[in-house]
Amino acid sequence: MRQSQLPSFIRKDFPKDEEAYNAQILIRAGFVDKVMAGVYSYLPLGLRVLHRIENIVRKRMNELGANEIVMPVLHPKENWQKTERWSDLDVLFKVIARDKKEYALGPTHEEIVAPLGQKAIASYKDLPFALYQIQTKFRDEPRAKSGLLRGREFLMKDLYSFHATTQDLEKYYVHAIEAYRAIFADLGLDAVLVEASGGTFSKYSHEFQVLIDAGEDTIVYCAQCRFAQNKEINDAHAGDPCPSCGAALALRSGAEVGNIFQLKQKYSEPFGLSYRDADGAQKTVMMGCYGIGISRLMGVCAELFHDDRGLSWPAAIAPFAAHLIVLSGADAAAGEQVRRRADMLYNQLTAAGVDVLYDDRQEITAGEKFAEADLIGVPVRLVVSQKTGDQVEVKKRSDAAAVLVDFNEAVPYCIQK
Ligand code: ATP
Ligand code: MG
Repeated sequence: MRQSQLPSFIRKDFPKDEEAYNAQILIRAGFVDKVMAGVYSYLPLGLRVLHRIENIVRKRMNELGANEIVMPVLHPKENWQKTERWSDLDVLFKVIARDKKEYALGPTHEEIVAPLGQKAIASYKDLPFALYQIQTKFRDEPRAKSGLLRGREFLMKDLYSFHATTQDLEKYYVHAIEAYRAIFADLGLDAVLVEASGGTFSKYSHEFQVLIDAGEDTIVYCAQCRFAQNKEINDAHAGDPCPSCGAALALRSGAEVGNIFQLKQKYSEPFGLSYRDADGAQKTVMMGCYGIGISRLMGVCAELFHDDRGLSWPAAIAPFAAHLIVLSGADAAAGEQVRRRADMLYNQLTAAGVDVLYDDRQEITAGEKFAEADLIGVPVRLVVSQKTGDQVEVKKRSDAAAVLVDFNEAVPYCIQK
């Protein structure tokens, strides 16, 4: 993509009305725009990152055998009354229509997916199956101060599985954990599996937490054996012995990037979700639900992958694979030649399947182009100038040193992980 065709939302300074670093840097670098507390627009660069995160998640969901759907955002009140969450869920956004009828804006989708699931289930032969979506959720969050980590409107992947038996649900739950581990590894994140709540419920629900200072949760964590529990349900102190290996526990901040539950009959019961078993008896369906915070993940990555010059995206989720910069210089004739060479390289890279952001803008100084490239944080920077002659200067965002290579040698630098 030619940068001359890309509107620049880059700002000279960090926004003053934003407390969270992830949102500050993403706004400054032109990835998102703040509309109000907890509500953001995703701009061309930001949407690219979001799509890449989505696609990593989507690929693993499909491998798990789950089927993608899209459910509505606008929900009938009756469904939420059936589960008593119309009155009990404090973050539920409610909407009143002109005829005074009330609706909910979906904060999660058990109330829609359970009755939907019934339409595909008659007998045990129809089970198991799983449905997922990647969709905007709404929650009336009381403390939307963490930027993308806690939106009032945010993007989530939610997966729901349907089973005949508890054993089958448990088996699937383990596969889902494996899929989640693979997703976070693909994203370059070290996510720890955390027991979500204490007592009898703990083995039926887990969180995936990325340990970052900006995280809102406190995690009791053992660096030795990776035992982890949410502090909400654990009164351990830093230095206490780990219940699993005896090493000293630490308290760490964490951002919950995923949350999985064995719902069992919690939502199938209120909706009468049932199947006919082999012996002809009517039985209640078992359900599981599995969430991932897609837009929260983008915020977590911004918190993790940056330096004092700006963002520094891992190749797997970067908005582009390479950032090609042309510096045509003051001399018009020589500049024309440099531009022709850079155009040629751009075409060559594009033809080779490299997703390139091409800074072909004129009237912008070399210093500004470099500073903006560092701020945007594409993993590989390529420079074509009078100085580089027939060659191109290649530099990784994370390195200080650059190398000069021939045009036909540039591609491998851009497709590396
Ligand atoms: P939290 O404990 O952070 O409030 P939750 O347990 O209510 O989240 P779930 O309902 O399990 O979250 O949602 C699944 C995932 O969606 C969470 O693990 C998180 O990554 C993400 N998520 C939840 N709430 C938000 C939000 N307000 N903004 C951004 N992402 C969110
Ligand atoms: Mg949670």
